[in-house]
Amino acid sequence: MTHMNDYDAGPRQAGRRAYERSPARRVRPWPWLRHFALLLLTLIPGLASAAAPLSLAAVHEGPIGASVSYYQETGDRLVVEQAAAALAADSFRPAAAPILNFGIGARPVWLHFSVVNDTGEPLQRQLTVETTWLDRVEFYVRQDGRTLAMDQAGDSLPFSHRSVDSRHFVFRHSFAPGRSQVFIRVQTPDPMLVPLYLHAPEQARTHATLQQYSYGVLYGFLLALLIYNLMLYAGLGMPRYGLYSLYLGAFLLMNVAYTGHGFRWLWPDSPGWAQWSNPVLMVLYGVAGLVFAMSFLETRRNFPRVHRAVLAYIGAGVGLLGLAALFSSQHFALLVAFSFVTLFTLIMLSLGLLAVRGGMRAARYFLLAAVAAMAGAATTALAVWGYIPTSLWTYRAVDLGMLLDAILLALALTYQFRVGQSERRLAEQLARQDPLTGMNNRRAFTDAARPVWNIARRQGHPLAVVLLDIDCFKRINDSYGHAYGDKVLITVAEVIIDTIRKQDVAARWGGEEFILLLPETGLEEAAALAERLRQAIEAIRLRWGDDIITVTASFGVAGRDVEHSNLDSLISVADKYLYQAKHDGRNRVRYRPVASAA
Ligand code: GH3
Ligand code: MG
Ligand code: MG
Repeated sequence: MTHMNDYDAGPRQAGRRAYERSPARRVRPWPWLRHFALLLLTLIPGLASAAAPLSLAAVHEGPIGASVSYYQETGDRLVVEQAAAALAADSFRPAAAPILNFGIGARPVWLHFSVVNDTGEPLQRQLTVETTWLDRVEFYVRQDGRTLAMDQAGDSLPFSHRSVDSRHFVFRHSFAPGRSQVFIRVQTPDPMLVPLYLHAPEQARTHATLQQYSYGVLYGFLLALLIYNLMLYAGLGMPRYGLYSLYLGAFLLMNVAYTGHGFRWLWPDSPGWAQWSNPVLMVLYGVAGLVFAMSFLETRRNFPRVHRAVLAYIGAGVGLLGLAALFSSQHFALLVAFSFVTLFTLIMLSLGLLAVRGGMRAARYFLLAAVAAMAGAATTALAVWGYIPTSLWTYRAVDLGMLLDAILLALALTYQFRVGQSERRLAEQLARQDPLTGMNNRRAFTDAARPVWNIARRQGHPLAVVLLDIDCFKRINDSYGHAYGDKVLITVAEVIIDTIRKQDVAARWGGEEFILLLPETGLEEAAALAERLRQAIEAIRLRWGDDIITVTASFGVAGRDVEHSNLDSLISVADKYLYQAKHDGRNRVRYRPVASAA
């Protein structure tokens, strides 16, 4: 979930500007690693001596850094004639990498390469520096010791100052036949990354279109996901969906900012914000990711100490960024932002690992998401440093990683939702079940009985209630122990369930008392069922050592009549007859006022 694409490929057209510029901006994560890589590169002596001139008639698809040599200013600002003199004095060194990279806060750099136009006709070509954050880029074309053309670009002025509508720095020139020298001066406190391309107009347009489509897909996908999760948040009221949307939104904003789309489309008149947007949005992105992770992994409950540490980390990041803003130090803000986001990646990974080890299944998706984002970011970083081949895929790996990250997190949310639902269903079921016998409990009976009662009353159909109570159950408990009593209860419950019909509702009403609600059943019919059940219970044979234990129950039966205004009154009639059955000597069914010997 980190990302750090400072290189970014996009439409290239021209940008012509002036600049007065402010301190450092956009850096990339792990700047020290990049410095280290650069150091290694500069230690390799004279890898390529003065590169051969580039043929303008040939097609140059990738970055042309390998054909470029460079010279870093040591003191005062040089003018192009002085740079040309330095070149003549062999002071330029070969860049020896496809993409030039001088690190953060580098001294101004002069780049040089020669081109040959052997077509005999002028050739229109486009030179693009595919970054968005360089302060000042100057282009010079020289031929026969004379400067023929000059242009400049940079990002400190409102966007409207650009003569060509591009988020990159673009220079167009019609190269005269023969050999020309191209000089480019770059000055910036930001990461001085210079991916330089030399394209024919058609080629440049194709490139730009490809870039635009790819960003269209990326932003469209993430926006759709964002809106969908916002709707889930609104509909389900679960904060983690809202926080996931916030995280996606923060990534989108940050990406839009560092790719220059923000400056181009959203805040073209605010170069000040264009400079602060990167550190601010990076920190926002990290904070949003952590807040989402805390909610998703329920760190407050599951890992309280880690939770407090993450909160402290967020506080520190935001606090330090605030300090940087207070002292108007962009350089400090960038250092804070890059450190914050780099560590953020590791924290996400650790949180995922912690939750997976803690047995949280949804966290596996979370961990995978963190790995995908990190792998994407690392791939882009390696491509930019020149350790792996540079291609559209490796450069944009950070975006692909983020796409995967977003998809996997959406899956994680879905998975967690499903787990939550089945847990809820189970809890609900348990709340309605008698734990000993597995039968309905009183609450479940009341819920199930209500519609049965209403239908019978509305349609005038018969309905009956049977109450039964095990006889002298206390004695069973007293003689054989409570556990044995439980076994008896379970056996009786089984017999009841085996005897009743599918549409009948049975429940454990209390201690050793059960209730049956019999729809479409008249009083006589219900009494007959009760009698069958009485015999079935009487037939139960349980062992206690060598002894056989038997058990009996008494029954009270009531049929629905016009005088019963509700189910309770029907039940109380059954209860009355149950009492009668006990009174008459137990192990019998009673359902009529005239007590007939059973
Ligand atoms: P009667 O024939 O008059 O119904 O006598 P009885 O002993 O069955 O009735 P009484 O209400 O005096 O006692 C019921 C006993 O059931 C008392 C109580 O401890 C026992 N009991 C209630 N629930 C459970 C249970 O879940 N498991 C066991 N083992 N005993 C229970
Ligand atoms: Mg009893
Ligand atoms: Mg009882």
